[in-house]
Amino acid sequence: MKAIVVNKPFEINIADVDDPQIKSPDEVLIKVKNGGICGSDIGIYTGENSLATYPRIIGHEFGGEVVEVGSGVTKVKIGDKVAVDPVRSCGNCFACRNNRHNVCKSVEVTGVHRDGGFAQYVVAPEHAVHKVDTSKISEDLLCLVEPYSIGVQVNYRGRINENDKVLVMGSGPIGIAVMQVAKYRGASVIITDIVDQRLERAMDMGADKAVNVLKEDLAQVVLDYTDGEGMPVIVDTVCSVKSFPQALDLACQAGRVVVLGLTNLPSEVAQVAITKKELDVIGSRLNNHHFPEVIKAFESGALNPEKMRTNTFNFTEIEKAIELIKKHPEQVCKVTLNFD
Ligand code: MN
Repeated sequence: MKAIVVNKPFEINIADVDDPQIKSPDEVLIKVKNGGICGSDIGIYTGENSLATYPRIIGHEFGGEVVEVGSGVTKVKIGDKVAVDPVRSCGNCFACRNNRHNVCKSVEVTGVHRDGGFAQYVVAPEHAVHKVDTSKISEDLLCLVEPYSIGVQVNYRGRINENDKVLVMGSGPIGIAVMQVAKYRGASVIITDIVDQRLERAMDMGADKAVNVLKEDLAQVVLDYTDGEGMPVIVDTVCSVKSFPQALDLACQAGRVVVLGLTNLPSEVAQVAITKKELDVIGSRLNNHHFPEVIKAFESGALNPEKMRTNTFNFTEIEKAIELIKKHPEQVCKVTLNFD
């Protein structure tokens, strides 16, 4: 079969690799239909993803059709359309024993630590394979379940609920997913960016207010929006050295700040910024078994992911797709690859 392989930084190609085989009774063979390109895939390509090892078949956002099942598989059958959760955990460590398998001490993500879904076929364990009713949601969008599972994870970690006021910093795919999940949970959301087209898309997808931080004073907008109190919940999807201390500043007394960044560069933060307001600073990583919730919300229409996908390429055009994302961020939200 063919797969998208990053051999080493800046060397990507469509390689002929061995077809994956079912090796244990709980495994499922899937013909991949589509995949979503994530910032972290590009980080593996550019060598900026410190977690990746090479050579690697990239891709952790993908879905397809079941073409073969192991003898013990009962959850899905041949012909089912499925999305595949990329998180693999040990099941035994402290985090796993406490129902936090997404931060398992030896967590692995398909497409990062082991070969991923940007290939014509993939084998996955049954527990990671989730059926999607494609009479209710287009099968082109199977690969969007994963980014929305990140949005659900952030909402759980930030305890975002009805009537919460939430600031989402950044209008990329994760910012949009966090915003839409917060909206269906009943919160109101301000979203930010530095690109007007991205803010227009965020408003079109349900945000209550969009702020271009290059043109408006975000601190003032937050005060106006909260009757001078500051923001109860802030989700920083910008994840820069500067955005983290800014998020702490914008939070109100007793507020929550959710952090998703993977940079190992330090931010300058005074302890008093956290102590004085008794802030909850909360990490959020990957997703903790949230595929069923996302799929249910897609199928019922509670979440509308259609507008997240802005561009589609054949998988053989991966370099063209990466170039578009890097050169024209204003034109793209989620770029997907077609493997059919
Ligand atoms: Mn992703």
